[in-house]
Amino acid sequence: MALSGIQIFKLLPKTNCGECGVPTCLAFAMNLAAGKAELASCPHVSAEATAELAEASAPPIRPLTIGIGDRAVKVGGETVLFRHEKRFENPTAIAMLISDTTDDAEVANRLERAKSLQYERVGLTLRPELLALKCQSGDAARFAALVDKVVKGSDFSLILMSDDADILASGLKACADKKPLLYAATLENADKVAALAKEAGCPVAAKASGLEELGKLTDQLAQAGIKDIVIDSSSRSLSSVFKDQVLIRMAALNKKFRPLGFPTIVFPCEMTDDPMKESLIATVAIAKYGGIVVLSDFQGESLFPLLVARMNIFTDPQRPLATTEGIYEIGNPNENSPVLLTSNFSLTYFLVSGEIENSKVPAYLLVKDTEGLSVMTAWAAGKFVSDAIAPFVKKSGITDKVKHQKLVIPGYIASESGGLEEELSGWEIQVGPREGAHIPAYLKAWKP
Ligand code: SF4
Repeated sequence: MALSGIQIFKLLPKTNCGECGVPTCLAFAMNLAAGKAELASCPHVSAEATAELAEASAPPIRPLTIGIGDRAVKVGGETVLFRHEKRFENPTAIAMLISDTTDDAEVANRLERAKSLQYERVGLTLRPELLALKCQSGDAARFAALVDKVVKGSDFSLILMSDDADILASGLKACADKKPLLYAATLENADKVAALAKEAGCPVAAKASGLEELGKLTDQLAQAGIKDIVIDSSSRSLSSVFKDQVLIRMAALNKKFRPLGFPTIVFPCEMTDDPMKESLIATVAIAKYGGIVVLSDFQGESLFPLLVARMNIFTDPQRPLATTEGIYEIGNPNENSPVLLTSNFSLTYFLVSGEIENSKVPAYLLVKDTEGLSVMTAWAAGKFVSDAIAPFVKKSGITDKVKHQKLVIPGYIASESGGLEEELSGWEIQVGPREGAHIPAYLKAWKP
């Protein structure tokens, strides 16, 4: 049962030291009760109080991990209904369905597609995370063979899908150390699937018809000792999926209803045969609270927009996307290549680096940390002026890479050229184009 703010306050040290980021313990307690703060932010809570507060401070949607190592996938952990309130925590995981009735060549093709479809964008690698392996043959040995093949042919985290606990057990034998998600425990097989998951330490997907039944099932699993649960309300139409996702999130956040406080799984692959519609349904599920979406296939033309949509929805709206400060080498530059400067607002970086690539002129791009602000905004904020740029250029190590001392600055900060020539003794400051689109022509004419 969730604690009220006052109940939480009674367990806090009441020193009002402010180290948690708010001025008083009462304010912190209220934030904790509202799911807007994390208990770890207070370094002075006693161990006893920590244990007692664990329930109150746990995110209303339980976070859990599927898989292990670098490719492990975190889902859940959400604390808000709308991203502008704080941010969404863990991006919807995207899975591709592979059936054990699929022939070997197609399985191999799908694994290759799953591995190859990844994209670099604004400094991030966008890619799908999961393979959902489904037993449609009813044959445990055949299912285990598919799991074995996929484990040997890829490092994706896995969902094992069957309503038959014995078949799940057979698949699990081939991949238990990968800690797959077991889909699905139902009201009929919950005890067997729970025992399987407990023994292997795997998360379980609970599937029931409607939210009431689902709540009963997660209670049953919790009583069996299963904490890491993903939920499927069995809805298979766009309107009912949308309704269920919203109701589940609202019940968990607004009503603190623990039986539905778990990440969800949605199956666009079972809702249409039309790839376009499937993508649209997946987009809705990503935007509205889906923890995992399972697609019938990965194709670049549909996967890429989904990955970009997901990135945008799960970006913290309070923090601009930023690229890491440093020297970026574009097109194998050498000691005579031009050196350009820009800010670390990701969109600026990608626009500038893209235009340098388009120019086919190898170059070094110096990206200065401007806290994610664009060139003009950073300049206006005093973060992209000669006093700030010069120390960065000196420390960047660019002088070890080129034998000239010419720095091309964005046209928008032309007024800094004089200051930079004073600060960077021996450097010639060249004013580049104001617009990224003019960079290729500028670089083609550039001389060391
Ligand atoms: Fe109170 Fe802890 Fe916050 Fe200090 S850090 S004000 S003790 S809640």
